[in-house]
Amino acid sequence: MRQKYTTNAINLKSYDYGEADKIVMMYSKDKGLIRCLAKGSKKPNGKLCGRMDMFVANNLLLTKGKSMDTVSQAEIVNSFFRIRQNTEKMFYSIYCAETIKNFGEENDENSDVIYDIFYSVLDRISNSTTEVEIILAAIRFQLKIMQVLGYNPEFNVCNVCREKIGDNYSKFSFEHGGLICLNHKTSDEKLLRIHPKIKDFLKTLQETDFNILTDYDKLANVRVSKPCFDILKEYIEHCSPKKFKSTKVLEAI
Ligand SMILES: [Zn+2]
Repeated sequence: MRQKYTTNAINLKSYDYGEADKIVMMYSKDKGLIRCLAKGSKKPNGKLCGRMDMFVANNLLLTKGKSMDTVSQAEIVNSFFRIRQNTEKMFYSIYCAETIKNFGEENDENSDVIYDIFYSVLDRISNSTTEVEIILAAIRFQLKIMQVLGYNPEFNVCNVCREKIGDNYSKFSFEHGGLICLNHKTSDEKLLRIHPKIKDFLKTLQETDFNILTDYDKLANVRVSKPCFDILKEYIEHCSPKKFKSTKVLEAI
């Protein structure tokens, strides 16, 4: 008898395998990145139909295999169907999924925390009613995922001289992993000037949960939040062990 186990997992990507099956890459709460064989998932009336689509979160019963585990049962936890109804929601969700794919590992020791952050951002994006809400969810995701992965950007003090940033303009240095005083020279090719209000905005998003509505959430607009998303996107790409592919698509919108 093959060993079975259960875990919650979110689908990241799938490949066709033969006529009726798919191989699905998922991020699971208990084992980090996993690749599973989903038999019959291409059949329109199969028991896995719709459950192996991108971003769907399932509670799975998996059967251990020699090279790959097989999905024996899948019960939908959240299909995040609103994401698939909106292009903007799709793009930001694809970006978050790619971040998870690029940094995720098999048997990741932080898999439960990473899973929760990923689940929360998809939930927030799915339920957003405005573009700025979607972007703020994505920024919270960027900041929180960097925190777990050990690349937490420092916003309080200069990352070179450790002086408090306070109400001064500063620069975001990818090399130093956060803000630095304007007068420091670094080997970073690009240094982005940060207004003290932007620093406070990012710090607040870093420290608050996805469903908390801060003053910044109420006042933020796309003109301010999009450049913040872009800075963090570049920083994450700088730290990433793999190249991002969705970036080009995101830039095209
Ligand atoms: Zn300094």
